[in-house]
Amino acid sequence: MKYYSLNNPSLIADFRQAALVGQAPDKGLYFPESIPAIDKEVIRNIESLSSEEIAFRVIKPYVGDTIEASRLFDIVSETVDFPIPLVSITERIFSLELFHGPTLAFKDVGARFMSRCLAEFVKQGAVDNGRVVVLVATSGDTGGAVANGFLDVEGIDVVILFPKGKVSPVQELQLTALGHNIHALAVEGTFDDCQAMVKEAFMDLSLKQKLYLTSANSINVARWLPQQFYYFYAYKQWKDKEQPPVLSVPSGNFGNICAGLLAVAGGLPLGAFIAACNVNDTVVQFLQSGKYEPKPALPTYSNAMDVGNPSNFVRILEIFRNKLDVLRQHLMAISISDAETCDVIARVYREQGYMLDPHGAVGFLALEKYLLAHPQGKGIFLETAHPVKFPEVVEAATGRVIDIPDSIGYLMKQQSYCRTVPAQYEYVREYLLNF
Ligand SMILES: *Cc1c(COP(=O)(O)O)cnc(C)c1O
Repeated sequence: MKYYSLNNPSLIADFRQAALVGQAPDKGLYFPESIPAIDKEVIRNIESLSSEEIAFRVIKPYVGDTIEASRLFDIVSETVDFPIPLVSITERIFSLELFHGPTLAFKDVGARFMSRCLAEFVKQGAVDNGRVVVLVATSGDTGGAVANGFLDVEGIDVVILFPKGKVSPVQELQLTALGHNIHALAVEGTFDDCQAMVKEAFMDLSLKQKLYLTSANSINVARWLPQQFYYFYAYKQWKDKEQPPVLSVPSGNFGNICAGLLAVAGGLPLGAFIAACNVNDTVVQFLQSGKYEPKPALPTYSNAMDVGNPSNFVRILEIFRNKLDVLRQHLMAISISDAETCDVIARVYREQGYMLDPHGAVGFLALEKYLLAHPQGKGIFLETAHPVKFPEVVEAATGRVIDIPDSIGYLMKQQSYCRTVPAQYEYVREYLLNF
């Protein structure tokens, strides 16, 4: 399998090159040259296949021969070693719970897969000095998943920049309590400052001569592609195979939903997709008007979706060969306000006893609105994070204190390590050269 840059189809890479550099040299996103059709037998027998087998069959054509088959099987087995249950909330609405991974967010799947692929490529000798530095800026969720995914992975160090005092306590511990090869820098500034400094580092040629720097955001094919797995697991657990479900996906950078649409393009029989957005509605507007007008992100309760210019949207356009009418048959988008988000968290807790996080709440309500207009339909929303990661909003809406799951209870007892730096690039550069 080869990948081409969406800016220039003559820039070609294999999976290994694409995963190591993240973005093409012309800053384009990599896209597979052809979308492999999933074996019909996988679809027919899906209920008898294990999570590992499904994941392996789905990802193998995308990885090609860059990783040996038995090693790839081990990588996917480690990636999906936690449950992803489909839970019924009402007769017509189901929750695909993606928050049972180590950092309680769906990003665990992509981060774990990517980290192990990079480690494999370092081991194969793909990087001159035998060591990769992954540099990320985070407003909360991404950093935790990346830190956990890369913990103790050989040949890789991770440096995470986060805005000091601006991530939730659980999120901060997920960044700072791991130690080993995970280095957290608390920046005296905003998330935008962190991101600007990461960008500066990637443009700093003299730094890049000394370090093999790469990023770990959803632009990277090794993070984006394994997200197809969830949609296969949803289908596996869906009882009524004659009537496929509609999928409602809480969307920010549109990596997750794009992976779902790719799975469908490869032959997974699911119904229409709903991009569930908060008030950052660039794609909602685009589907209505046909005009793509990015804007600055507005802060909301579902802050992992505060994106005004979703980077993966160009990949969705490519799946549909830029045909807007075809895209509209497969993809809808609905925007939900913060007030609606709080209301739906309160109502679903009161009526169903189910605690939504703000992102899942946006997904639930978008699906409910869709089903009002489609009385025969049934659907699944993706619950992308555990409510404990967003305690203020959820506790205010439900009046309940959230129990802390065992998987992060232990973090509370760890020593946390982090260095505080001013929001000036020299300090980050200095740190990178000397840690
Ligand atoms: C990252 C994230 C999203 C958005 O996913 P995209 O792939 O960026 O669209 C939704 N919910 C949560 C909890 C997230 O962390």
